Amino acid sequence: MKKISENVEAVKKNINEACAKVGRRPDEIELIAVSKTFPTEMILQAYAAGLRKFGENRALEFRDKVPLLPEDIEWHFIGHLQTNKIKYIGRRAYLIHSVDSLHLAGALSEYGQKNRIEFRVLMEVNTSGEESKYGIHLQEAQDLFMQIDRLPNIHLKGLMTIGPFTEDEEAIRRAFRALKQLQQELQAKVDNRKLKVLSMGMSHDYSIAIEEGSTMVRIGTAIFGSRGR
Ligand SMILES: *Cc1c(COP(=O)(O)O)cnc(C)c1O
Repeated sequence: MKKISENVEAVKKNINEACAKVGRRPDEIELIAVSKTFPTEMILQAYAAGLRKFGENRALEFRDKVPLLPEDIEWHFIGHLQTNKIKYIGRRAYLIHSVDSLHLAGALSEYGQKNRIEFRVLMEVNTSGEESKYGIHLQEAQDLFMQIDRLPNIHLKGLMTIGPFTEDEEAIRRAFRALKQLQQELQAKVDNRKLKVLSMGMSHDYSIAIEEGSTMVRIGTAIFGSRGR
């Protein structure tokens, strides 16, 4: 397997190329290295290669790993979050990508008020219609957005989606376009400066996501190698 530093360079090069293709600036794209299942030594290699933004998807793993790693890492929580595990994320999550219900948003709001934490969050939307996946259905997204937006100690920064698992590039594009369109519809309803973040694109589809307007890509495999099962 290639060295992590080489993988990081390759990913950055692809980001630059995708940006060039559609006339975007590479500094519009934030790279989140998804370090779930990987040991701290590997995270430190990515850190040494210059990365400072990392993502984890399980609350207990997040709780256990974060204190072992440098303080200046910006941690992103990207997985499904159960309300009884909010306490393991607490103040160390810079951004929670995966708010997928009013129930979770309400619990975060309550926890935030009690513990004086202001949570930055994204609303996770299911843009592919695949039933097994977490995420708010597109049709419900506007309503839910307005309700979450009113909660104290919760700051909606944008939207997140996971593209469909398919080889069909058009289907992937359609999903990412749907998220971009939802962003524009919501921005028309609220303050236009809000909701800047579009978290979309993983190892197999981040170039497409960038072409379709992503501002944050979540890359695991292409940086750390395959996780196995
Ligand atoms: C694991 C994961 C990723 C990274 O996936 P790769 O295909 O390894 O790049 C991105 N987003 C979420 C929500 C994940 O759970």
